[in-house]
Amino acid sequence: MAAIGWIGLGNMGGPMTANLVKAGHEVRGFDLNPRALATAAANGLIPASSVADAVSGAEVVFTMLPKGEHAIAVYMGEGGVLSSVSPGTLLVDSSTIDVESAQKLHDAAAEAGFRFVDAPVSGGISGAQAGTLTFMIGGEPGAVSDASTFIKPMSANIIPTGGATTGQAAKICNNLMLFINLAGAAEGAVLADRLGLDKQVFWDIASVSSGDSWALRTWYPIAGVVPSSAANTAFAPTFTTELANKDIGLAIAAAQATDTPLEIGEHVQQMFQRVLDAEQGGKDCSIIVKLVDGTLALDQEPEQVPALAQAQVN
Ligand code: NAD
Repeated sequence: MAAIGWIGLGNMGGPMTANLVKAGHEVRGFDLNPRALATAAANGLIPASSVADAVSGAEVVFTMLPKGEHAIAVYMGEGGVLSSVSPGTLLVDSSTIDVESAQKLHDAAAEAGFRFVDAPVSGGISGAQAGTLTFMIGGEPGAVSDASTFIKPMSANIIPTGGATTGQAAKICNNLMLFINLAGAAEGAVLADRLGLDKQVFWDIASVSSGDSWALRTWYPIAGVVPSSAANTAFAPTFTTELANKDIGLAIAAAQATDTPLEIGEHVQQMFQRVLDAEQGGKDCSIIVKLVDGTLALDQEPEQVPALAQAQVN
């Protein structure tokens, strides 16, 4: 049993910590959102009052935060992880962030005398709940191997990707493909309906044919076909459009830096932008199906999009 510190208990961090608790670890966690903290506490997490309170005395610290700016604030800000952990603590950032921020965290951790790995995940909240996430881990081999021991109860696949920031590079490319696949599943689904196909019959075909993808099997954006689809719950978020837009933006920025044309990726980013413009950024990203069936503008009441938590430490 290990003492684990955890910052960021949202859609992913909540169920991930529940699996660490089930595996017998003592997990002390913090989130700026009291509701997220209370939900995690109901699953056995020990609620902390601040980042420093969550991480002091921990053998390993995990962070699962929205963006690079949040990760930088939580590690490097006043009262942050680097100024609060005990000597020898292993640091693992599982957020999906840009490569530059990840490099900054590697550098700052090394300067403060800590081992750090970038370890983003794939598998969605269904994978987080089931403990079947794929972790891609960049960093020094000894730290990657030690991090893997703690990661086991949350994962089905642990794949070392190479040196610092390569985990983030792999994740950014993976998610570019995911969101293009999601847009493809949305277009196929709506066209199948308009051609008079039964939604279940079409899904049964596509899921064992060349139209198959993780997006089709897990996020199929038509209600009543796939149990894990957000379409069943009026697009309550499992992966917000705001975060999806962030991820595809990371791919586009990386593509610009490497002179790589991403014509389809850029188009899908514009689709997410239209959802944000309709003030639906807090809804699940599979809501882009409404751009295909034409109902986004018609039936969505503008909502208060919950602003991503401030990039502060607390
Ligand atoms: P989320 O918005 O549900 O959760 C993030 C949590 O971080 C929130 O509860 C927020 O309050 C908290 N937070 C922000 N700043 C904080 C701070 N300074 N101190 C403490 N807590 C703070 O997001 P999520 O869906 O859990 O995603 C987390 C990360 O994982 C993102 O980088 C996302 O891109 C990535 N990811 C998400 C999925 C998914 O399906 N949702 C899958 C793979 C990876």
